[in-house]
Amino acid sequence: MARRRKKLHRTIGRRPPLFELTAGVLCLDFVNTLDNRPTGEPKELLARYGDLVRFAEDTGILTPAQADRSFAWSEADPEEAQRVLRAAVELREAMYAVFSAVIAKRAVPASALALLNGYIQLAAKHLSLTPANGGFAWQYDSYGDSPGGFETMLWPIVRSAAELLASDNLPFVRTCSSETCQWFFLDTSKNHRRRWCSMKLCGNRAKVRNFYARQREG
Ligand SMILES: [Zn+2]
Repeated sequence: MARRRKKLHRTIGRRPPLFELTAGVLCLDFVNTLDNRPTGEPKELLARYGDLVRFAEDTGILTPAQADRSFAWSEADPEEAQRVLRAAVELREAMYAVFSAVIAKRAVPASALALLNGYIQLAAKHLSLTPANGGFAWQYDSYGDSPGGFETMLWPIVRSAAELLASDNLPFVRTCSSETCQWFFLDTSKNHRRRWCSMKLCGNRAKVRNFYARQREG
């Protein structure tokens, strides 16, 4: 389905969200950044490095201030930003291959899993425990706080994928029932019968279609 894309803002401060986050899990929202997959004319929502930064901001990986700094560094080093963007898209497609194999109960492609595992090991190298609220919290180094860490925002995404793949929730990863959408989501509904990425985006249209079909039959 066609989704309206809001304009990319570069103003300092809070920006309205650019991405529809309907999956309920970070890694699946990331996989959904290639829109209209089943139509044969997919729409790349990560067309520029700035889009990746905005995804990180929308999902809370980066604060607005960190996102602003990341924009600035990417403009100072566009080649590196472009390289990381390509890597991010490659990682996303590997994650898509893994999750779609799981859903279809097919064997997971070894190359896709190997690529994901490479990132899991890389992410782990930058992860440490830090005291927080009387306990501890996971923290990644240079989280948009020092120049050059262009791919830092991929690490929480990779970790989210690893956690989901190794969790009891894996059987509840589903695709949207709209033939043109097929976005991924985690079905956390009580009876596990959720069909749409969101009622607002795809569910409503199906409801309207059924309503008119029933009227015609009646
Ligand atoms: Zn949908």
